Amino acid sequence: MKCEKCGLEIIKEDSYEHLGKTLCEDCYIEVQHVPRPCDPGAVYSARKTREMLGQKGSEGLTPRQKEIYNFLKEKGKATHQEVIQALDIPPQELQKEFAILRHCELVKGSKEGNTIYLTVMD
Ligand SMILES: [Zn+2]
Repeated sequence: MKCEKCGLEIIKEDSYEHLGKTLCEDCYIEVQHVPRPCDPGAVYSARKTREMLGQKGSEGLTPRQKEIYNFLKEKGKATHQEVIQALDIPPQELQKEFAILRHCELVKGSKEGNTIYLTVMD
């Protein structure tokens, strides 16, 4: 059988029903989840893509994402403001890149008192 969205050849056990259509796992995830920060589906999908490509750690990231990731790894933790100043990143760009890094489960935000720190995940 074939995925009705992308045409991929799939076996019955790997097929999913969505609105009367047979979909492969990837297309099923795609129609189910529109990526948003903190979306478990997006996390799953980003991790799966990276696994498929055999990527670990900061592999497969853009230079900007690597820069953020390496900075946090070196510092241990840093506030948004510290990252913005140290790497000279516009706040909106940091927010966007941070959301992607979080989808890949490389970084996370943690709250200490009233301050939110960005840290790398183990
Ligand atoms: Zn498909």
